[in-house]
Amino acid sequence: MNTSPKTTLTDPVCGMTVTASSPHTLQHQNRPYYFCSANCQGKFATNPAQYLSDTKTPASVASAEPAEVSPGTLYTCPMHPEVQQEHPGNCPKCGMTLEPMLPSLAEEDHTELHDFQRRFWWTLPLTLVVFVLAMAGHRLQWMNMAVQSWVELVLATPIVLWAGWPFFVRGWQSLVNRSPNMWTLIGLGTGAAYSYSVVATLAPQVFPDSFISMGRVAVYFEAAAVIISLTLMGQVFELKARSQTSAAIKSLLGLAPKTARRIRTDGSEEDVPLSNVHVGDSLRVRP
Ligand SMILES: [Zn+2]
Ligand SMILES: [Zn+2]
Repeated sequence: MNTSPKTTLTDPVCGMTVTASSPHTLQHQNRPYYFCSANCQGKFATNPAQYLSDTKTPASVASAEPAEVSPGTLYTCPMHPEVQQEHPGNCPKCGMTLEPMLPSLAEEDHTELHDFQRRFWWTLPLTLVVFVLAMAGHRLQWMNMAVQSWVELVLATPIVLWAGWPFFVRGWQSLVNRSPNMWTLIGLGTGAAYSYSVVATLAPQVFPDSFISMGRVAVYFEAAAVIISLTLMGQVFELKARSQTSAAIKSLLGLAPKTARRIRTDGSEEDVPLSNVHVGDSLRVRP
């Protein structure tokens, strides 16, 4: 089973050992393939690539582990089960991160959690400073209010444009998909507060005098910054909770056997990975 594929004849679908005299054979890319049954031959004929990618990694059957996330894994939205796609991403309806439909024992992907944590912690100090300035700046009298607008602009820009970028992407996707959701609101709200405040800081003369309060045109950088920091915190909590749930499911999955003892047609037995067990196979259950 674990010698080179050239000398061993293996059914590429179920992994059983077969002989060249098998009546079930197919030519694919100028190579003959042999199958244990018409069933496996039919499966191979419909999608050869799926089974050939398995044979390129001829792991010994006894030590074979379930594939990481098998190529056919579908991803779905926890809120919208009708959403199913073959690659990870965001739900086109609500913008949530999609989950694999079949939980697997493989190490799960924490990229997005770590990305959000990085964005949150790096911009949290900036958000706090912008917030304190906006709430108490005129009482503290640290600087001229027009100067303070510039300071808030400089501090809020990385928060909104870098930390908040994934939210704008999701907000834009919600518009493209004509499915308004939380990200539409967050994108619109923070985008409007930020861009209005940028104009008010760079070109205060375009606003009528009635907009001027405490020596400057009022700005709302703190609103955009606080919304983005709180949303990032919420996303980090959500992704953490989800990964803990899947960790619990994984520890249950870990209790399941990874191989089965299959009885060959000649009565001998072999250990095969569970993924190679098909309907109709005879298995021996040992105590
Ligand atoms: Zn087979
Ligand atoms: Zn959804």
